[in-house]
This record gives sequence, structure tokens and C-alpha cells, in this order.
Amino acid sequence: MARLNKPVRLSGPLTVAELAVKLALKGSDVIRSLMGMGMMVSLNQEIDSDTARIVATELGYTVEEVKAEVEVETEVLEKEKEEDPTLRKNRPPIVTVMGHVDHGKTSLLDAIRKTNVTATEAGGITQHIGAYTVDQGDRRITFIDTPGHEAFTSMRARGAQITDVAVLVVAAEDGVMPQTIEAINHAKAAEVPIVVAINKIDKPEAQPERVKRQLADLGLLAEDWGGKTVMVPVSARTRQGLDTLLEMILLVADMEDIKANPDRDARGTIIEAKLDKGRGPVATLLVQSGTLRVGDVFTCGATWGKVRAMVDDKGKRAKKAGPSQPVEVLGFEEVPAAGDTFVVIGDERKVREIADRRQEKKRKEEQEQARRLTLDDVYRQIKEGQIKELNLIVKADAQGSVEALEKALSGIQQGEVKVKVIHGGVGSVNESDVMLASASGAIIIGFNVRPDPNARRVAEREKVDIRAYRIIYEAVDDVKSAIVGLLAPEFKEVVIGRAEVRQLFKVPKIGVVAGCSVTDGKITRTAGVRVIREGRVIWEGKIDSLKRFKDDVREVAEGYECGIGLENYNDIKEADVFEAYVSEEVKREVTP
Ligand code: GDP
Repeated sequence: MARLNKPVRLSGPLTVAELAVKLALKGSDVIRSLMGMGMMVSLNQEIDSDTARIVATELGYTVEEVKAEVEVETEVLEKEKEEDPTLRKNRPPIVTVMGHVDHGKTSLLDAIRKTNVTATEAGGITQHIGAYTVDQGDRRITFIDTPGHEAFTSMRARGAQITDVAVLVVAAEDGVMPQTIEAINHAKAAEVPIVVAINKIDKPEAQPERVKRQLADLGLLAEDWGGKTVMVPVSARTRQGLDTLLEMILLVADMEDIKANPDRDARGTIIEAKLDKGRGPVATLLVQSGTLRVGDVFTCGATWGKVRAMVDDKGKRAKKAGPSQPVEVLGFEEVPAAGDTFVVIGDERKVREIADRRQEKKRKEEQEQARRLTLDDVYRQIKEGQIKELNLIVKADAQGSVEALEKALSGIQQGEVKVKVIHGGVGSVNESDVMLASASGAIIIGFNVRPDPNARRVAEREKVDIRAYRIIYEAVDDVKSAIVGLLAPEFKEVVIGRAEVRQLFKVPKIGVVAGCSVTDGKITRTAGVRVIREGRVIWEGKIDSLKRFKDDVREVAEGYECGIGLENYNDIKEADVFEAYVSEEVKREVTP
């Protein structure tokens, strides 16, 4: 095989098949060569970069060293660290608005946006690019236009933190609600300062003092109550207080180090991206340092681009964008993801190379994801020194249980490892909990509650461990045992299906039989079953009878109707959901 000195570029581990493609050889040739080295491998098996290099050399290739992508990245970031601090200038703070649904986040964002619009701009103000900047005196503030902590936390889960200040909107008549608490905990977990906007004070039933009292109970003490949290009464409707709110945001921002050097290659984060039919991939990005210019070449996640055109939040063409300035950019090779960072690197060849490599890496990262923290895995990670703190999120069916669990779990300390409950709340495990868990490397403890279908899907994707308990000490015990590596062999529960109760029948001597429709999966006669009413588990036990028409059956599949009787339980209501599950023993890795 005389391919003498044919150059090939290799970086990182790859599969045999991938190597064969790179070498323009048949997979079997590569396998044979590996066998010659005493390695029995299959086509889809991964080999490390050293092995790949040896095989390639063996087969007559000259392997070119590729400067690792980390190095290029580090180079850029190091340059920034070494930078003369005097070059860093104040930049506008970047603000996210969070709070309970209907408390006025969108209205507030709209009202603020319109506050600073001059008459000439008013026409073009419909441009929504995902973020906008307003003037306040001679300073500016940038607002992220997607309200809510979902966007905030999903970005954080992807490793991007762009928010400098969180505005917590609380409606003055409604007061603190579940999502208010969630928002506070999301901001706390991200260590972002909070400014409270007590909204809707134009309403006669507004009770701003009550809101302050409720927030004080959650650890946010208003300034006029001797605390540190800035709280501003506002009305998105009458625009009362908006000026003060903006002033206060700047005041709070001034206590943080919000600076960047505008005179260097730009770096920042994608906040929104889409495929536009006419214009190709379009993304709104927020410059975090440096200045982005038309013509700049950049890497961005697994893709790259060259800035073809930029449009600002007022719909105007822009030639450049400085720190904290949002712009819509054309010129991406592919649609990036929200939360991806971009880095301008002068050299187009290098940029393409990095993008190539990242595509490869993406696949590996997906495998990496599969190794997210689970309770079973805690001990290994502690031993490897990867975690010193075990973060938990607690959801339960009643406030009393939340508090009891928080108290019992936060008290746990084993050796160097501390348990920290970063969020607790009443209600089913929702998507927001899962995203917070994913962003903070936390495990979710559900007590008498179940994840809603959305949360289940996201947890699967993000590989977040959700544990369900019905007895407090079992939860506490499991967490303790997990830390010391003694978690008993676990019976992992697998939900096999769900049925919804449509109608109830009283059968003499037998009790209540529920006429059900199997909404997903299947129900089997021997499965365990949970009765769920409004997200809460109200009963758990076994199925007593499972019938199709008059016949006893062993299982009923999705889309079919059936009659279900429960063992010693008759308190069923219409619209209850039966969740059927089976237990499977999970094989644990033996820890030496
Ligand atoms: P979001 O779900 O938090 O984004 O809330 P929205 O901005 O959609 O507002 C929910 C409802 O509250 C809408 O009907 C708004 O018109 C109303 N609203 C918002 N702000 C105010 C306010 O300051 N005063 C009054 N009276 N109503 C408001």
C-alpha cells in the first residue's frame, strides 16, 4: 500500500469507520491493520488519537498535528485576561425580566421599550430581535426580550450566562406566586442580583406592602425595611415608576463589575436563531466584549460564519456592534443554537477547522450528556473530587412536606460533602425545575408528586435524575447512602403507560370500577399503579381487575378503553390519571 507520505489531519478519538473515511480506505483495511497491532475492533468502535495516529502512519500517511481547538479558544480568552484592566470600559447592563405568569412581564418589557422611543423612531419600533437597548439619561440598558426564567436557565444550562441583573416582576394585587419563588431561586442559583418591580400599582386592590412582607419571608428584604433589595412600585399600564426602575437597575448594576474592552475582536452569545426563508440562517447575538464588524469571521458553537450584514433593535442597518449591544446577524453557515458563544478569529481557515472539529465533538458531547449526575453516580463523582456539594431540588404535594424535606435534607453532611437544596416548591415537577437541575447539576426529589409529561421529556433529554418518594425518611436515607456509596441496589421504576378515567361504575360487592381510556403505553394486570389527581399522587397500590368489555385481560394497549378496579381503593374521580409502572432492578457498577 504505497501511499507514502500522504498527509492526513487527525484530532481526538474517532471511530474506525471515521478513520477509514479520512484515510480514503475501506473499513476492513483499517480493521486488518488494527488487528495486526493486536486490537480486535469493530467498525463503530472508538479508538483513541494515539492509536489512530499509529495506524495512519503504518498505512503510509504523514499525520499532521492540528493545533487543538482548546488552544485557540484559550488563546483568545487568555488574551482577554491578560488585557490591561484600564482598557475595560463600562458597558450597559444586560437585564432579564422574570416572574409569575400574568404579572406583567411582557407589558413591562413593552412599556420600557416604548419609553425611550423618539417620535421619528416610533414607526420602526415593531422590530423584535430578541433584545433591545434603551437610553436612561446618558446611559443605556439592554433588555432580553424573552420574559421568564425558562430562557434564562436554558441558556445557563448551555453554559452561557449573560444576565447582569434580574428584574423580578410581582403583581401588587396577586403577590408572591409559585413562579415568583422559582424565579428567585433561578436568579440566586446564577448569583445574579435581583431588582423587584412591584407591578400593577394602578389597580385599586394593589397591596405593595403585602408583597414586601411576602418577599421578606423569602429572604428578599426591601431597602425601606432595612434590607438590601431594591423594590420599585411600577405600573406597566400607566408607566408610573418606570423611570425609577431604570435608574435603580443602573444603581444595582454599578455595584457589579460590568465592564468590557470594546477595542478588540468581538465575543458574545447567541440569544435567538432561526432559518429565514429568504435570508438563510439569522441569529440575534449579544456582544459581550469587543466590537463586531461587518466582514468579521467567527466560530459559533458547531458552526461558523462571516458577518454579511447586521440590523440593530431599531431595524436599522449597523456596521458595528459594541459590548452589550444586541444585533441581528446574517452570514452564518448553519443555524446556531441559543446559548452558543461566538468568538471572532481573524483567520478563516482556522475558523473552518474549529467548526469541523466541533461537529465531531458534538457527537461526543451527546455521549457526555448521558453521564450527567444521577444519585447512583454521586459517590463516584465525590471520590473523583468532581463534586463537593450535592444540589437538590425538592417538589412536594404540600408546603409542610417541602419544608420538612428541605430541613431534613439540608442538614445532611457526610465528610466533606454537603447537601444543598437550591429550590423547593409545591406542585408537580415541571420543565422549569428540570432546566434548573440541568443548569445546576442538581437531582430532583419528588415527594408525592410526579413530573408532568413535558418535564419527563426534558428530563430524558437533559439526563436529569428525578426521584420519587412517598416517605420522607426514605428520601433522606437514599441521599445519605448515595453520598457514602452505599445506595442499595435500586429497583428502577419504569412507567409503562397511562390511562385516564372517563366514567365511574359502582359494582355491588366489588366496589368502584373506572371506565378508562389508555392514553399512552399500555396497562398490564400485574403493574403497580398510581392515582394522580391534578399532578398529585393520591394513592398507590395494585390493580385488582382489568377488563375489556366483560373479559378479564392481561393488558390493554394505547387507544383502547378498559375497566380498571383498584385493590382496596374506591375513591376514584373522573379525570384521574392512572399511571402504571413496573420495577426493574438496575445493575450498579461495583465500587471498589
Ligand atoms: P406576563 O404573563 O407576565 O407577560 O403578563 P402580561 O404582560 O401578559 O400581563 C398580563 C395581564 O396583566 C395583561 O392583561 C395586562 O394588560 C395586565 N397588566 C400588565 N401590567 C399591568 C399594570 O401595570 N396594570 C394593570 N392594571 N394591568 C396590567
